[in-house]
Amino acid sequence: MAQIIDGNAVAEEIKKEIIEETEKLKAKGITPGIATLLVGDDFGARMYRGQVEKNCQSVGFNYFDKSLPADTTEEEVVNIVKELNDDPAVSGILPLRPFPPHVSDSAVINTIRVDKDIDCFHPFNMGRLTLGEPTLAPCTPSACIELLERVGIDFEGAEIVVVGHSNIVGKPVALLALNRNATITVTHIFTSQAGNLAKHTTGADILIVAAGKAGLITPDLVKEGAVVIDVGINRVKVLDEEGNPVLDEKGKPKTKTVGDVDFENVKEKVKAITPVPGGVGAVTNMMLLKNALTAAKMQAGIE
Ligand code: NAD
Repeated sequence: MAQIIDGNAVAEEIKKEIIEETEKLKAKGITPGIATLLVGDDFGARMYRGQVEKNCQSVGFNYFDKSLPADTTEEEVVNIVKELNDDPAVSGILPLRPFPPHVSDSAVINTIRVDKDIDCFHPFNMGRLTLGEPTLAPCTPSACIELLERVGIDFEGAEIVVVGHSNIVGKPVALLALNRNATITVTHIFTSQAGNLAKHTTGADILIVAAGKAGLITPDLVKEGAVVIDVGINRVKVLDEEGNPVLDEKGKPKTKTVGDVDFENVKEKVKAITPVPGGVGAVTNMMLLKNALTAAKMQAGIE
């Protein structure tokens, strides 16, 4: 039976460490602060905004809400980023995407001061990551590494296979693991379409899955005794034993959140596995706070 890696417990540990560090910084007259930048009213972005505000409060950070109407021009958004860049109370700036179509991601991200780029999407920070010298590392990939480190994984020479090659998760997590001297294979949709996914995943000591496809990783794709990190977040219908949708009191199909891994069956075969929910996501939130803390220290010239 696999160890179920408890992301919530790891997140709580990290939170305690952040609170301690924050108190030390406050004693020096520095309070870390995060500003979120929301343009328009995308539901997911608004949800995330609220979560960031709550998380900031829970560790004693300042929080700044820049919520702008959907018709704000790109130039106006960029000017607000410049104001946040110049504001010493703001340690980190978090753009909440998606933006409306007339506001390009790159115009906003490329304007963020590199030492306030707590999501680590600026080309400078991605470049530092590629060179193996990251100061701020992207949150979800860092959460995967943090979880593996806290369960005592030795990266050196480990065979790590990543499923997914997005700029947000797949590529940066591969780089973070490569920087720890693991042997990395990155697979993606074209690997699957070529019929080669199992060939790679079954060789993985550590399998990191970020595809956004529920049930993609079945037991036959996993090596006995592997460690599996499931990054995927998917909403799926709840089914009864006959495979029919279970309805709620309003007659609508009930839904639940699952990862990309067939958790119930894969857990019987592996050494350790993260659940969804309660795995990577909880730790991701803490990595954002950790980056803001690092940013505040960098800006104050503290090691
Ligand atoms: P994306 O859509 O940008 O990229 C998906 C990747 O998966 C691509 O590289 C694609 O080639 C690959 N892929 C898709 N289908 C595949 C298949 N059948 N076989 C092999 N590879 C396949 O998605 P993303 O932004 O990288 O996010 C991936 C998942 O992680 C999503 O479910 C997302 O919701 C989740 N996510 C979770 C967190 C978190 O904190 N837990 C953060 C970010 C993203």
